[in-house]
Amino acid sequence: MSEWTRPRHLPEALELLAAAPGQYRVISGGTDLMVESHLAPERHPEFWLDISGLRELQGLQITEEGIRIGAATSLEVIRRHAEVVTHWPMLAASAAVTGAPPIQNRATLGGNVCNASPAADNAPVLLAYGARLEIAHHHGSRWLPYMDFHQGYRKTALQAGELLSALWIPYPPKHSRGYFRKVGTRAAQAIAKVSIAALIEEDSGGMIQGARFGMASVAATPCTLPSVSQYLLGRALRDIADAQVRQRVGQDIAPIQDIRSTTAYRLEIASRLVLEAIHGRSESKKED
Ligand SMILES: Cc1cc2nc3c(=O)[nH]c(=O)nc-3n(C[C@H](O)[C@H](O)[C@H](O)COP(=O)(O)OP(=O)(O)OC[C@H]3O[C@@H](n4cnc5c(N)ncnc54)[C@H](O)[C@@H]3O)c2cc1C
Repeated sequence: MSEWTRPRHLPEALELLAAAPGQYRVISGGTDLMVESHLAPERHPEFWLDISGLRELQGLQITEEGIRIGAATSLEVIRRHAEVVTHWPMLAASAAVTGAPPIQNRATLGGNVCNASPAADNAPVLLAYGARLEIAHHHGSRWLPYMDFHQGYRKTALQAGELLSALWIPYPPKHSRGYFRKVGTRAAQAIAKVSIAALIEEDSGGMIQGARFGMASVAATPCTLPSVSQYLLGRALRDIADAQVRQRVGQDIAPIQDIRSTTAYRLEIASRLVLEAIHGRSESKKED
């Protein structure tokens, strides 16, 4: 028998967590946890802390610099939000391919991130947009770049007593273009074999001024592509050698072989998608 606690506000939730570190299992939309609790009953906690009713963790606010999204905001609300669709279309797209509408109605963005699956669908987009996380503790809160959140397979930077309270995403640079793609076995309701988001910024002369990538299902955690980004910086599109990009993709990712895919397939698809994100088409003619 488990005990279910439903705090009325965020300070109450944080007090409970601080008073009994590691004792509660936080539950938000429950779409990951209910499956886990069925498949692995031995991991069923004694104490649940249900944060789904906390108003402080709900909703989206536009600021001058970007958007703040409460951690317990559902993917359904996010994907239909007019400002998200206009300014952060890759997030609207990733929320729309996370499971199907019944899941999106309950699933939260915070839950997707904190569940820390290497295949989480919204992770690549948050990495490409350069998101930051607001992490709350009963002593106060701290900010963390999302790229520092995943510290190993299913291991996050959250400490005992902490909750993810919000995600903050800056406006994309003016002359930037985004690219998002999820490759799965089916068009819907599939766990990604590979997924990618990219935000590429070019100046008026076609020179790349910034290139940020996020990928999922290609390593133990969602990851960025630091060597690819570094190679692209300051180069014009016509000067980019596809072989160089492919080589750097190989350095930046470490795909595994599992029931969904082979290592070789993931590596090949990842390289093709990165090239498509850069050129806006599958592959350029230029070789090394
Ligand atoms: C049928 C089905 C299809 C799915 N399809 C996809 C898919 O296509 N792509 C995909 O990425 N996922 C998919 N999922 C997984 C799941 O729906 C998402 O990961 C979802 O976003 C999890 O959010 P949640 O609010 O339900 O999390 P929960 O199940 O409530 O929690 C997940 C984890 O995060 C922790 N947590 C939640 N919120 C917080 C917080 N604010 N602070 C600290 N810790 C927190 C919980 O303790 C738990 O460890 C699917 C699940 C199902 C059942």
